[in-house]
Amino acid sequence: MTDTPLHQGLRQNMVNNLRSKGITDESVLHAMLTVPRHCFIPESYGARAYEDAPLPINCRQTISQPYTVAKQSSLLEGAPLMKVLEIGTGSGYQAAILKAMQMHVYTIERHRQLYEQSQSVFKKLSLHIAGKLGDGYKGWAEFAPFDRILVTCGATQVPQSLLQQLKVNGIMIIPIGNENQTMTKIIRTSDTEYTTTLHGDCRFVPMLNDINM
Ligand code: SAH
Repeated sequence: MTDTPLHQGLRQNMVNNLRSKGITDESVLHAMLTVPRHCFIPESYGARAYEDAPLPINCRQTISQPYTVAKQSSLLEGAPLMKVLEIGTGSGYQAAILKAMQMHVYTIERHRQLYEQSQSVFKKLSLHIAGKLGDGYKGWAEFAPFDRILVTCGATQVPQSLLQQLKVNGIMIIPIGNENQTMTKIIRTSDTEYTTTLHGDCRFVPMLNDINM
């Protein structure tokens, strides 16, 4: 998995395009400039790696389009050394972006094949990301509480265990809805209180129950 000057040029164009679409968070833009997206998608789609489009990965899932990754990452307001939990590892690209933002990353995937492939990409790129095969509805109690939680599949409602695993003053970004969702930002303001703001329509693959081995 080489990263050539051509790839670097295509990433620079991608980042310029994200700026023109209103992304301003420099830590997000810098991460997207450095992470080789072409390493996270099937080779047959290699030529399209830096288009602003979602692309198919295995198990009938998709890698989110760069704009969506940038938008979710910006809303998350992450900072170095924060502990972040991602639900829906998929290709592993979003997790790698959070890692490039110097966060401690924990990520959960329910498809064994995607879990295993993402582990092997993390290894090849020497990314220290904690991954697990499991059901994201349950969160990851062993490492809770988290400063940030990022859900990259569409949930019909906010999973209770994820609310519980968020630190006070922590932020969760989660698409809520059925076929189409609303990007939702939840801030835990105290042990028992949460505030919610809405950030536009989006479309993610559904968050499903249980593991697919
Ligand atoms: N963040 C990914 C996008 C993945 S698409 C990327 O950067 O490529 C959403 C992923 O969520 C899919 O891989 C799907 O299998 C996974 N998923 C759906 N429901 C889940 C659940 N309950 N727990 C964990 N992962 C889940």
